[in-house]
Amino acid sequence: MDGRKPNWLRAKLPTSPEYRKTREIVDDNTLHTVCQSAQCPNMGECWSRRTATVMILGNTCTRACTFCAINTGRPTELDLAEPARVAMGIQKMNLKHAVVTSVARDDLKDGGASVWAATIRAIRYRNPETAIEVLIPDFRGRLDQLDIVLDAKPDILNHNMETVKRLQRPVRKTASWEITSKVLSHAKSRGFTTKSGIMLGIGEEEHEIEETLRHLHDIGVDILTIGQYLQPSKEHRKMFRWVTPDEFDHWKEFGLKLGIGVIESGPLVRSSYHADEQSDRYSRS
Ligand code: SF4
Ligand code: SF4
Repeated sequence: MDGRKPNWLRAKLPTSPEYRKTREIVDDNTLHTVCQSAQCPNMGECWSRRTATVMILGNTCTRACTFCAINTGRPTELDLAEPARVAMGIQKMNLKHAVVTSVARDDLKDGGASVWAATIRAIRYRNPETAIEVLIPDFRGRLDQLDIVLDAKPDILNHNMETVKRLQRPVRKTASWEITSKVLSHAKSRGFTTKSGIMLGIGEEEHEIEETLRHLHDIGVDILTIGQYLQPSKEHRKMFRWVTPDEFDHWKEFGLKLGIGVIESGPLVRSSYHADEQSDRYSRS
């Protein structure tokens, strides 16, 4: 495989005044963002649109998924003032649609669910008109912990499947197809709009992508994102191939025909990429 990035993956450079303003808000409120921690290629574009995805519960994850650039280790942070700062940051960014995510906190008794709930409530209090999308960890399949988050009433419950069934163990290690399905199905059964995402180019076969899309449709996923896997470093799982924009279009069409409500599919698509537009399209669909 040619290791050079194809043209369609060349993202916008971070130079605009709006980009600098977003950075200022993030820094002033001492926020972590997945944009920075996961080395997202869309920072130039998103931050210039004054959109960032805040990452709560610290910057160190208790897991070590083989595709992920986020720091792994034993977290030291549990910052109870974080929800208020997140709510303030979102207000300053003037977000109509806020996406919040977190690291996995398997070290905490409730997996961080109470901080999640406090964060949703703080955002709602300060930003009553803002739609809140939560991109959550799996809480090890503990539905009582998931319910703590759902009881705070986010607008969209997002939890990524990440890859096809066969590659769950090598790619995600402790997470699984079954637990992710359980999380999404439970949220659906409680009437929430659900969203998930997968990466392509990480070693999957075509028939496995089909199986994954069918499965996500069967468990009621309403919004789906499909993007190119980019290997963060030599230590991370190898990238297998560049997926062309035409193939991304093909999977979008395939999934829409199955009946998934909204699909964002393209090389630079990430869970939170243009999340506001996906949500608008879903409300209109
Ligand atoms: Fe990254 Fe999430 Fe895996 Fe942690 S659980 S390593 S944040 S993908
Ligand atoms: Fe941040 Fe998401 Fe945009 Fe990436 S796609 S820069 S993570 S908001």
